[in-house]
Amino acid sequence: MLSWDNPGDRVAIAQMNSELQHAQLELLSAHCASHQLRLRFTVDDLARFGRRDILRKSLEAAASLNAYYSSIEAKIPQAAEAVESASLTEGQVREAVNLLASYLREQSEYYMRVAVPLSNLQKAAMWPYFSAVVLDRARVVELKGQRVPNPPFYERARALGITNLPEWTHMDSLTLGDVILFNEKLSERALFHGLVHVIQSELLGIERYSELFIRGFLATKHHFSVPLEAHAFSLESKFGANPSDRFSVEDRVRLWVHQGRY
Ligand SMILES: [Zn+2]
Repeated sequence: MLSWDNPGDRVAIAQMNSELQHAQLELLSAHCASHQLRLRFTVDDLARFGRRDILRKSLEAAASLNAYYSSIEAKIPQAAEAVESASLTEGQVREAVNLLASYLREQSEYYMRVAVPLSNLQKAAMWPYFSAVVLDRARVVELKGQRVPNPPFYERARALGITNLPEWTHMDSLTLGDVILFNEKLSERALFHGLVHVIQSELLGIERYSELFIRGFLATKHHFSVPLEAHAFSLESKFGANPSDRFSVEDRVRLWVHQGRY
């Protein structure tokens, strides 16, 4: 079974969610096609005049899909259900966005004092995925096991019924504006991942970035399925799979911003 605590699994979880989304879109298109049939023809006519072989194949596909997804539904953990039932008012969402944005700003300023620029070796490994401007501006802090505590507003979120918030102490890295914190040591992949968030928060601005994170979390119930996170994991996985296949992360992120995919 996959575990969120295992860094290798996090990429697999992000890929799984991208395939799940693909399957869901295909199902939606099957649903639309069936809806057209339903609008145009009666059930009696379809049963009498529909081609038997095609009807049978359609029935089998629908029944096996129903059995498959029901078996998944039966295993959805309680924690996810809890987020489902926690519906926040628009005012509470705005409050959460403000809390996250000011926390990111405060913490960024705090850690900036001890953060260091990337070494030339690190810059070389991250170029040309990231422009020289971004690589010069980014700062890193290695906490070497000291670990960042959860933000203070987690208490309030839990009181509102949101239970499966990501544990900050379990993450490889945390990005606060231009500063990337590493709970343990800095690895190339974790640095790449953190830099994707640097670009995202730069292009979107801290406010919008915080808003998309919170709305994405409330919609998807898991922080790794939030589009901002899923994109970072999928780009990190491309980098890890084939480091010679160079691409511009900024172009990819800009495209997602323009297409409204975050
Ligand atoms: Zn991330």
